[in-house]
Amino acid sequence: MLLINPPVTRPCEPPAGIARLKTALAAGGVQATMLDANLEGLLHMLQAPANVGDTWTKRAEGSRQRHCEDIRSGRAFRSHAAYSRAVRDLNRLLDVYSAPSGARVSFGDYSSNALEPIRSDDLVRAAELPERNPFYGYYRERLPGLLEECSPGLIGISITYLSQALCAFALIGFLKKLAPGVRIALGGGLITSWLRRPGVRLAFDGLVDALVEGPGEEQLCRLAGAGQAPQLADIVPDYESADLDRYLAPGRIIPYSASQGCCWQQCAFCPEQAEGNAYHPVPAGQAALYVRQLCDTYSPALLHLLDNAISPALLGQLAQTPPGAPWYGFVRVSRELQAPDFCRALRASGCVMLQLGIESGSDRVLEAMHKGISSSEASTTLRCLHEAGIAAYVYLLFGTPWETEREAQMTLHFTAAHAAYIDFLNVAVFNMPVVAAQDSLHATRSFSEADLSLYADFDHPAGWDRKSVRRFLDQRFKRTGAIAGIIRSKPPLFGSNHAPFLAGKGRQVV
Ligand code: SF4
Repeated sequence: MLLINPPVTRPCEPPAGIARLKTALAAGGVQATMLDANLEGLLHMLQAPANVGDTWTKRAEGSRQRHCEDIRSGRAFRSHAAYSRAVRDLNRLLDVYSAPSGARVSFGDYSSNALEPIRSDDLVRAAELPERNPFYGYYRERLPGLLEECSPGLIGISITYLSQALCAFALIGFLKKLAPGVRIALGGGLITSWLRRPGVRLAFDGLVDALVEGPGEEQLCRLAGAGQAPQLADIVPDYESADLDRYLAPGRIIPYSASQGCCWQQCAFCPEQAEGNAYHPVPAGQAALYVRQLCDTYSPALLHLLDNAISPALLGQLAQTPPGAPWYGFVRVSRELQAPDFCRALRASGCVMLQLGIESGSDRVLEAMHKGISSSEASTTLRCLHEAGIAAYVYLLFGTPWETEREAQMTLHFTAAHAAYIDFLNVAVFNMPVVAAQDSLHATRSFSEADLSLYADFDHPAGWDRKSVRRFLDQRFKRTGAIAGIIRSKPPLFGSNHAPFLAGKGRQVV
C-alpha cells in the first residue's frame, strides 16, 4: 500500500496522519510506503530552471541553495531579517514557477485562477486535466518509478487542508491514468469535515474508490485487508522512512498527537464542537512514554504536539517525565497554567512555546462563546508563562456574533496591556461553520454557490460586519504601537511552525 501527503502544506515536518496509518497497517500485517509529495513537490519546484528575469527572482534564484541550507542549519534564524529574506525569496520562486500553470503556490497555500477547491466539479476537473497542475512535472518524474517499486493495490491520499485539495485531485487523475487498476482511498481532516457536513454528497465516481471518515485506521486496515486495527492509544507514528533531514526547519521537527477531538469541546465558534467530534485521549502516562520514545529514536530539535488542546493531565505528566527534546503545542488557559511553579516545571521539561486561544478581551464575549475562561485568568496565565520563559503564541478572534465594536476595543486594550507577555499573535476574522450556521439565530447565507464550502456568511446582530471588523483591525488594532511590534514578529509564511525558533532571547530553541 502507498500513503501520500499531497501538496500544499508547510514543508517543515513529516505528515503525522499517514505516519500513524503506516503503524496501524503494519500491526495488521500490511507494509505501507509513505510519500510526502508535499515536501518533494515543493523542493522539486524550487529547483526549476530560470524563466523570469526580474531582479527579485534573479536574486532569489542565485541564493536558493544557500537559503535552504541556512534554514536547515539554523543560520537563517539568527535574525528575523535574515529569516524573512530567506523564506520570502524561496516563496517568490514558488510564486513565479507556478504562475504559467495559472496557479499560485506558496509555502502553505495554493490557489488556482480557474478552479476552486470548494466545488466538487472543479476537483473533478483538476483530476481530468492533471497536466495543468504545477506539480505535474514532479508527479510524472516521481510516481511511475515508485509505483513500479512498491506495486500498491491501494493508494491512500490524506487531505487535511483546503490548500491540498486541487493538487490531490490532479494527483488522483494522474494515478488513474498511470495505473487504472489501483484503488484510491481518500481521507483526512478536510474529507471528514465534508462528509460530516449535512447536505453534502461527495461523488467522485471513477476517481475515488473509498472515502474514509475520521481517523481512518479501522477503515483503511479493512480496505487493505489488514488484521484488526490497533487502538489510538497503541499507535506510535512511524517516521523511519521519512526524509527527516530535508524538511525546511533548523533540525528535525517530530509531530505527535496524543488525542483525537478536543478535551473542552464547547467553544461555540469551533468546527470541532459543531461537527460533534468525540474526544479520545491517549492516557497521559502512555503518551509521555511515546513522546520519549519518539525523541530517543529521531533526536528531534523540536517536538510538535498536535492536540487541539494538550490536556492538563498530559501537561502534568510531561512536567514530571520530560520528553527529552524542546516541545510546543496548543493549550487552553487552565488553573494549572496560572501557577508559577507549574509553568516553571513545564519550562524545565522542555516546553518552549504554548499556543493559546484567548480570542477576546471581553468577559461577556468569552462567556457567550462558551470559552470557559475569563480575561483575568488569561492575564495570569500570560504572566506566568512569560516569567517561566515560555513563549506565548496568542490567537484572537474578531467579528463573532457575540462581539460589538466596543468589545473589540476591549480586546485591543487587553492585548496592548499584555504586550510584554505575548511573543506572537494570530488575528482572525470569524467565519461561521456551516454546521453551526444551521442552528444559528442569525440570518445566514453562503459565501458562494460552491457545494463544499465549510463556512457561511451571517448578518451580525450589532451590524459589526466583516468590512467594519477588517477596517478596525487594519486602521486601529494593527497600528497600536505595542501590538504592531508583536505582529511584525510573526514568522512570515511558516507562522507557528517556525515561531519556537524565533522566540525572544532565552525562549527560542536554537
Ligand atoms: S478549545 Fe479549541 S478545539 Fe476545543 S472547542 Fe475550543 S476552539 Fe475548539
